[in-house]
Amino acid sequence: MKFSKSIITGGAGFIGSNLADHLIRIGHKVIVLDNFVSGKKSNLSHHKKKNLKIFKIDISKNKNLDQYFKGADYVFHLAGLAEIIPSIKNPRKYFINNAIGTLKVVQAAKKAKIKKLIYAASSSCYGNTKSFPTSEKEKIDLKHPYAATKFIGEEIVMSYALSFGMPNISLRFFNVYGPRLNTSGQYSAVIGNFLKQTKNKKPLTVVGDGKQTRDFIHVDDLSEAFIKIIKSKLVNKIYNLGSGKKTSINSIAKLFGGKKKYVPLRPGEPKHSLANISKIKKDINWRPKISIKEGISNLKKANFY
Ligand code: UDP
Repeated sequence: MKFSKSIITGGAGFIGSNLADHLIRIGHKVIVLDNFVSGKKSNLSHHKKKNLKIFKIDISKNKNLDQYFKGADYVFHLAGLAEIIPSIKNPRKYFINNAIGTLKVVQAAKKAKIKKLIYAASSSCYGNTKSFPTSEKEKIDLKHPYAATKFIGEEIVMSYALSFGMPNISLRFFNVYGPRLNTSGQYSAVIGNFLKQTKNKKPLTVVGDGKQTRDFIHVDDLSEAFIKIIKSKLVNKIYNLGSGKKTSINSIAKLFGGKKKYVPLRPGEPKHSLANISKIKKDINWRPKISIKEGISNLKKANFY
């Protein structure tokens, strides 16, 4: 029997390592390419060597990417730098990692004649839209280097799909959470911060008045959508990938319980973010299953910090 071979760039990170679990469960052989800047070996240590190969390389700098892509069926390009404020402090680093890195991955994938490439795009491309839930047709509004570099990546992926018939799909992630979410770093995601603060018996840092809302999607729901996409015939498409539900930061804090501490607003952040997910729901017959209440309760139960 021939196994499917999947490459995950950024596979040692939060989303990549969860996706690796899902792919290995359905019988894929997974190759992880990661520079281990934010990724961790421990995120993958539960896998057997026969199912998973890990290479410590930087996709934006490596001169011989082609060797890793030979014989690959699917490419999941998740490697990249996240977070807004560091991207304003060091835009060059973000352009190299997120834009040049994507170009290199797409070129290697094209040479390897892969069956599908999925790009992790970002809902930050909608900037300060006032149109909710936001559909893929909404105008692009790039408010900081992070959003710009992720969007350039998407443009690269889609232009290769258009010009060369590459089987590429771009998924615009909303706020993804779940096990192995980063809990360190000044600008880490809200649920990661709240988990760490709960563990350390510190007050929850609520930015602004906490009335801002986000669309939180569990990483298991996201991984299921990835798998449905590779099983489909879809190519050259862009989809929002969120839960389609809005949750305020105050209500996330309430789910955690405990004291709150209000901290100053962060520059460049929208007040609200909410995905219209009708397009992906229809095209792959998928729907998110894990509510935010259930997702957070599971994280707390698993004592995941
Ligand atoms: N946030 C918060 N406390 C934190 C971290 C974040 O209240 O410790 C807020 C943040 O200001 C934003 C929302 O939570 O309004 C989501 O932030 P995150 O960094 O998780 O994702 P973003 O949507 O900003 O990319």
